Amino acid sequence: MERVHNFNAGPAVLPEEVLLEAQADLFNYKGLGLSVMEMSHRSKEYQEIIDETNAAVKRILGIGEDFEVLFLQGGASLQFLMVPMNFAFDSKEANYINTGQWATKALKEAKKIGKKVHVAATSEDRNFSYIPKTWTLSDNPSYLHITNNNTIFGTEWKIDPATPADVPLIADMSSNFMSKPIEMDKYDLIYAGAQKNVGPSGTVVVIIRKSLLEQSITNLPTMLDYKIHAKNGSMYNTPATFTIYMIGLVMKWIEGYGGLAKIEQSNIAKAKYIYDAIDHSDGFYKGTVDIEDRSLMNITFRLPSEELEEQLIKEAKKAGMIGLKGHRDVGGCRASTYNALPLKAAHDLAEFMKLFSQKNG
Ligand SMILES: *Cc1c(COP(=O)(O)O)cnc(C)c1O
Repeated sequence: MERVHNFNAGPAVLPEEVLLEAQADLFNYKGLGLSVMEMSHRSKEYQEIIDETNAAVKRILGIGEDFEVLFLQGGASLQFLMVPMNFAFDSKEANYINTGQWATKALKEAKKIGKKVHVAATSEDRNFSYIPKTWTLSDNPSYLHITNNNTIFGTEWKIDPATPADVPLIADMSSNFMSKPIEMDKYDLIYAGAQKNVGPSGTVVVIIRKSLLEQSITNLPTMLDYKIHAKNGSMYNTPATFTIYMIGLVMKWIEGYGGLAKIEQSNIAKAKYIYDAIDHSDGFYKGTVDIEDRSLMNITFRLPSEELEEQLIKEAKKAGMIGLKGHRDVGGCRASTYNALPLKAAHDLAEFMKLFSQKNG
């Protein structure tokens, strides 16, 4: 059976090679007579899987001993809480740049546990259609939190922002993690739900600079304390063993592809097909965000009417292209073009969009 072109925003497309490898391993992993799902997380064999996944993440990002890589549960949404719990000191203000719904949720979580929050910049005035270019930190910031790619609104930070040396930069990279090289020296904590770009759902990858971790707030509830998870190698409790194994396969795939610079080239080529179809449609399609801030991962656009939007989504599905409906809170259309989306899928969607606008424009 043919596979569809999958433009889902998350859970999302995985590399075919990864799925086939997992399929081959599923029944009897490397001749051990059981699947990865059935292994003890305390076994030597599983320890090798998680160690190799951890090492591959570090190799790909070019980071070493000064960072911890953790595989936790509760998704990026639990990180909205864990970040302020661990790093928002009561004597300081937690700084946030608000670029959309996920960023709003992140800062609300800090407020909910009674932390002082300062919004250093926001793009809410134009419905989150751009990335702020300037921001003002409070006097005594505990950290600055940004959302690197705004999955729902379709904007992305193109330049990793810098903070003063004593202000940690914390980023939600759920939807663009490993989509391009990252300037890791600027970041102190990164988190990313696996289900957008690096695996199935069930795990959030957290990368923390050890010097930040050492300063974290003490006496936290066990499962919400990064130090406990770091000390136990992400195995304080049973981790999402199969998801972590799948992330390991995706890491192997990224390395086989040639690393993040190569991945980025491919992502640029894919996004270009679709943005060109939008820009060359005589206004039939309208991008919803400022051109300079357009995301490489989530391409959002509108058609002249909601009826046409529905029709496009329906006809695309018939043509084997799924996942084009915009987020339920913003409407319109959205094509997510994560790492694993083949170039041909983006090409085919662009051609489909051209024909659709000619027929209906
Ligand atoms: C999907 C997403 C989240 C939420 O992730 P969960 O794993 O469902 O908690 C948070 N932030 C961003 C940027 C996302 O794209």
